This record gives sequence, C-alpha cells and structure tokens, in this order.
Amino acid sequence: MTRTRGDIELAGIAKSYDGQAYAVDGINLKIPDGAYCCLLGPSGCGKSTILRMVAGHEDPTVGEILIGGENVVGLAPLERRTAMMFQSYALFPHLSVRDNIAFALRVRGLSKTDRYLKADAMMEKVRLTEFASRLPAQLSGGQQQRVALARAAITEPRVLLLDEPLSALDEHLRIRMRTELRRMQQDLGITFIHVTHTQLEAIALADMVVVMDKGQIRQAGPAREIYAAPKDRYVAEFIGGQNVLSGRVNYINGSTATMAGSMFSEIAIPLSPGRTLEMGQPLDVAVRRDDVELMRLGHSSVPAGSTSVEGTILGVEYQGNFVKVMMAAAGEEEFVAYVPERRFFEDTMTVGDRVIAVWQIDRTQLLA
Ligand code: ADP
Repeated sequence: MTRTRGDIELAGIAKSYDGQAYAVDGINLKIPDGAYCCLLGPSGCGKSTILRMVAGHEDPTVGEILIGGENVVGLAPLERRTAMMFQSYALFPHLSVRDNIAFALRVRGLSKTDRYLKADAMMEKVRLTEFASRLPAQLSGGQQQRVALARAAITEPRVLLLDEPLSALDEHLRIRMRTELRRMQQDLGITFIHVTHTQLEAIALADMVVVMDKGQIRQAGPAREIYAAPKDRYVAEFIGGQNVLSGRVNYINGSTATMAGSMFSEIAIPLSPGRTLEMGQPLDVAVRRDDVELMRLGHSSVPAGSTSVEGTILGVEYQGNFVKVMMAAAGEEEFVAYVPERRFFEDTMTVGDRVIAVWQIDRTQLLA
C-alpha cells in the first residue's frame, strides 16, 4: 500500500443518525501527521461519533474526511489504514498474548511464520515478550491495555483511534498507563486520536486538545494554549483551574479599562491589541486560580499593575503541593485561589477571614 501519511482533515462534517438531530455539526479540524490528539468534552457531545467516522465505522451525513490528503469517506477501515482500540480492550480470552496480537494478521492471510515474526517484534516494542504465552486473564489491567494496543498497531495503521482507553483502570494505573500510551505513540510515530472526558488526561497527553460541546468544536490547539488562553466561558469552565467573572465595561481611558460586576465592585482589565471594548459592553474574563494571591483585608495595599476583589473565606482544602482557598465575593459565586503550600502556612487563613484576592492585570484573559 502506498498510503503512509496520517494527517487528518475533517472538512464541513455533520452527522445525523436519524435524519433530524445532529450528533455533530460544522466540524472543521486539521490534525498533523504523527500528532497525539485528544477529543475532550462531556458525555454526548459527539466525540465517539467523530472517532467512528474517522475509523470508517460510520459515514458523515455531510462533509469530507481526508487522511493523507485523500478523501476516505466510503472506504472500509482496512482500506483507510485506521485501527481502533476499544475501552473494553476486547481481547480473546482463550488466546495467548502472542496469538491475540497476531490475530489481525491471520485475518489478512499472512503465513504463520510471518505472523509470529511480526507479533514477536511488536511484543518487544511494547515490552510484552515475557508474557507471550499468558492468557489475558493472567495479566494486569495495564498489561491488557498494552496487548490491546499492540493488537491494533500490528496492522501498521497510519491512524490509531482510542475510545476512552484509560477509563477502565483505577486512578493509580490510569496515570501510569497515560505515560505509557504517550511513549508508545512516540515509538510508533503514528497519529493518535484519543477520546476522553477527563481534562487532566487530555492536557497531560495531547499535542492537540479539541474541546467539544453539543456536537461542535469550541477550541482546538496545544494543551498549554487551551489551559492558559481559553477562548470562552465554556472552555475556561470545562478545563478548570480558572475563575470566570462576568460584568460590564464601565471605564475606558487610554491604556486602562475597568469592568464592574455583581461579584465585585470593579476590576481593571487589560486592553489587548485586536480587541476593541465599548462602554457598557457585557464581558466575561478568566483569571487562573494559581495567578491569584490572597492578602488580609486592611493589612496590605494592592501593588501597582494589579487588580483585586474582596471577599470572605468560605472553605480551605489542603491539596498537598497547594492549598485551595474558596472565597465568596459580593455575589453568590465562588472565587478560588490556589496558594502554594509553604506560603499558605506562613500566615494560615481560616473560614470567615476577610481577604483581598489580588492578581496582575495582564494575567486576566478576556473571553469571547
Ligand atoms: P460522546 O462520545 O461525546 O459521548 P456520542 O458521539 O456518543 O458522544 O453521541 C453524540 C450524540 O449522538 C448523542 O446525542 C447520542 O445520543 C447520539 N448517538 C450516538 N450514537 C448514536 C447512534 N448509533 N444512533 C443514534 N444516535 C446516536
């Protein structure tokens, strides 16, 4: 086969299963060859639908799917050179690790010698050689996942599709296997599309995170961009680690502007190039919880270049390397600061303390 490139383009994709409601709509996305891409979003937002359409298990109602520059709509998975790894791993319980891995090659008519040669090389790659003759039931969850991955990878797909591959594992193993998935993707050098509803999983793994909501893409980009520069309230709240404040622009003069909201009387906001603000305009902004510093009310003044909101501490949660401090400002909404652990215990704050949350103005992210 000549098809080798694994870059993917979804162009104007919409999918309706029943001819009425759309599971996804208006999907445009380019995934570079060899990228680790995570589709992230709550249950029902259309992640698996996209995965199945790329795999070739479903066809879009409208639009094109290009793999390596070629439209693959209508082609079978084998012809597209895609492979899917399922949540349940779907291993054959009565076959050894080696036979499970070699299975797809039997379907393709390779001789036994060739099948085993390839399976042995693949086991070497994913460090399963010593388990070659075991049955799936004699393996740990992590090892089973490696078998499932090896079984999908042995067909030399240019795109590997993973549907919630870590959700069956316990927390500890999930984090270990996350690292391993990433390593295996780099070893294999092929494009991975991984579906997850877990923010930290996507951020830890992906070169490219695609945040979805109700059948649409809200934002796609490198993990750091999604976390540090969410585009809108939905992405900021879904990714987490942010405070989202709403208000209206109430002052603009030269290089400074402010907004007022129900949760605070007034905060300064940055004037970013390419974004014009108007008086009275409703606005959402995001402030990272780890960019916020807490000071005791009345004891210190807000430094130049910073802005602040006042409030009362509602709760304190020790998290190990930082302390999560929840405060209520003027409204009902919560405002959260992540205070580095050592700093917090230099001057421990407790529920009921009056504080000011301070952050640098240029750390405020204006949302769409
Ligand atoms: P996710 O993977 O994000 O949980 P899905 O792609 O599974 O989301 O589902 C998106 C929407 O499409 C949901 O409303 C779901 O009910 C619907 N849907 C998914 N698969 C089918 C199907 N085979 N037939 C009809 N509706 C479906």
